[in-house]
Amino acid sequence: MKPAQFDSWLTVDRKGLYCRPGRFHIDPYGGAKRAVVTHGHSDHARPGHDHVLATRETLGVMTTRLGTPARSGTQAASYGERITMGDVAVTLFPAGHVLGSAQVLIEWQDARVVVSGDYKRAADPTCPPFEPVPCHLFITEATFALPVFQHGDVRQEVAKLLKSRAQFHDRCHVVGVYGLGKCQRLIALLRAAGYDRPIYLHGALIECCALYESYGVRLGELRSATGAKRDQMKGEIVLAPPSAIADRWSRRLPDPLTAFASGWMRVRARARQQGVELPLVISDHADWRELTETIAETGAEEIWVTHGREDALLHHIRMMGRRGRALALVGREDEDQ
Ligand SMILES: [Zn+2]
Ligand SMILES: [Zn+2]
Repeated sequence: MKPAQFDSWLTVDRKGLYCRPGRFHIDPYGGAKRAVVTHGHSDHARPGHDHVLATRETLGVMTTRLGTPARSGTQAASYGERITMGDVAVTLFPAGHVLGSAQVLIEWQDARVVVSGDYKRAADPTCPPFEPVPCHLFITEATFALPVFQHGDVRQEVAKLLKSRAQFHDRCHVVGVYGLGKCQRLIALLRAAGYDRPIYLHGALIECCALYESYGVRLGELRSATGAKRDQMKGEIVLAPPSAIADRWSRRLPDPLTAFASGWMRVRARARQQGVELPLVISDHADWRELTETIAETGAEEIWVTHGREDALLHHIRMMGRRGRALALVGREDEDQ
């Protein structure tokens, strides 16, 4: 396939990425006629579409967060199920990012295009692993697309948290986590490390945890931090949205020690700025090595880069002898970085 041919049928309009022969957008801004949604984070799953196709889990997340996923109809697709939309075939594959997250394979004539959505390659007990899909054009995210980003082994980060808890047993460890994905992954990782005490939750995290459990993800005993006695919280682990760890909410906890689970914690200055005492490098996005290896693995001769820092990755893609292009999409401010 000649390079110009992809952008004759995959275009960017004011709602986002549009597949012309399939007559649908992928992760568009609100108000699209037909949308294929990769996952439930708010910069991908927006309200107000007429029709949404997504995994059953993503539709569940959208219902929880938005009330309704679409105005006039939804279609749930299983991973690997080939669905005809207009003149193209659409198949969703696991992206390993959060519950229900999917890559979108679009097949039209002889061309195979994969839109990654957000993804990671590291193991996550709360969702099926990323599945490499051979394609001609790979449209990849690039949140952590700099060689400095190497996320490392999450088990070591969890061990750090447990060690700190053992050392400061009178303090309450309050960990900033994003509500969809990171929160449940950290809980599952703590359980896998043998931590079986109740885990306390800020009110904003409760609903999403219940949703995960309704899809069979076991999280152990969870308790609401609201209304729990101050003394009772000594030595316990409390999870809260990042915005809550630095504000008045955490002051009611006994001598809180603040931690934050994020890929950005690799940047020490950022942890310091945010007043984080215990930075935990736990990311739901691919790091530099995962991005470059995944691009190679797809076999794609052309790569479009979206969602972050394109320059270094585009340079790398050219060094690999492939064609690269930055795809400017509006409104990609990740809620889950
Ligand atoms: Zn995401
Ligand atoms: Zn995103």
